[in-house]
Amino acid sequence: MRRSFTFLLRPTRHQEIALAACLEDHRQLYNAALEHRRIAYAKAGVSIRYGDQSAELKHIRGDDPNGQGRWSFSSQQATLRRLDKAFGAFFKRVKAGRTPGFPRFKGWGRFDSVEWPKDGDGCRWDSQPQHPTATYVRLLGVGHVRVHQHRPVRGWVKTIRVKRAGSRWFVVLSCDEVPAEPLPATGASVGIDLGVASLVTTSDGGQVANRRHLAATAGRLAAGQRDLARKKRGSKRRRKAVARVAALHAKIRRQRLDGAHKAALALVRAYDVIAHEDLRISNMTRSASGTVERPGRNVAQKSGLNRSILDAGWGVFLTILADKAESAGRELIAVNPAGTSRTCARCGHCAKDNRVTQAEFACTACGHAAHADVNAAINILRAGLALRQAAQAA
Ligand SMILES: [Zn+2]
Repeated sequence: MRRSFTFLLRPTRHQEIALAACLEDHRQLYNAALEHRRIAYAKAGVSIRYGDQSAELKHIRGDDPNGQGRWSFSSQQATLRRLDKAFGAFFKRVKAGRTPGFPRFKGWGRFDSVEWPKDGDGCRWDSQPQHPTATYVRLLGVGHVRVHQHRPVRGWVKTIRVKRAGSRWFVVLSCDEVPAEPLPATGASVGIDLGVASLVTTSDGGQVANRRHLAATAGRLAAGQRDLARKKRGSKRRRKAVARVAALHAKIRRQRLDGAHKAALALVRAYDVIAHEDLRISNMTRSASGTVERPGRNVAQKSGLNRSILDAGWGVFLTILADKAESAGRELIAVNPAGTSRTCARCGHCAKDNRVTQAEFACTACGHAAHADVNAAINILRAGLALRQAAQAA
């Protein structure tokens, strides 16, 4: 298994300056290489390849020993490959007959990470193993930077990436051959319904990851954006308002991720088999105003912005859940969601009128009444177990 580990860095003031310089030089290298390609393409119709640019690195470094020459050759190559990837995607879209935007120059603040493709090459994870308590990562040109390692690293460290988020620095390790950590069997199965107010409703009637905090931040973000719209362009107040909005966006990302991790962990601990709706199918039948199938899930709760913030994240959650399930040896089943929200979990009667409101389900045939999300989750579990049985019989 491949898995990544992210840790906060605790650089000294000197190291922080060096990290910023490292990032800035890699950004300039990226932009210079992009400029080179643009000119060659515009003036001579020539497309320059990664190999050509990589060969030139040696001269660039030689000419600028106190600038570009300070950093790792390999991380610079990785930056050139990143540009090459952007061009690859660009030409692929051109070939497909679309009109994509030309790869763009990275403005200050639009280039936030540097990657060292191989541990030991211009970088070293756990560079001071003899230290009794602290962990360090050594980066060429920066030094041994202290890491806030809040959990153990497993597997083999393959690549090391440093990224800046606001005023903080993180190190991201991508590890290979991370061993699975199977959990003891519980004998329990569950169906889950993904929603807005709570991320997950289970077929047992439980709700995981209430999103009250996320909703509160979303409200503050909406206020921040209204505030921003009133500020004059180029003014100092506007700059401050922009920073406030960016900080709120970052907070929402953190809260969403945190909620997703907690919910996924709770499910994986408690159940051997987890059935969920197949989002690829749900997305096709989804519209901004909501659908018959999913009445109200997409319908505005408060405002468009608020809704979109709460909406997005099901995909992220399922990715995290799949990851944890694989590691724990749990089984995940994706189910076609068609009919799950309007079918009675007791008698199987399927009708639009069964769904009284967003939250209420009342069967018009047998009178069964339940919370609509729990009813849907039970149907999802049933469909998942049927799929599983069919697969085992085959
Ligand atoms: Zn019924």
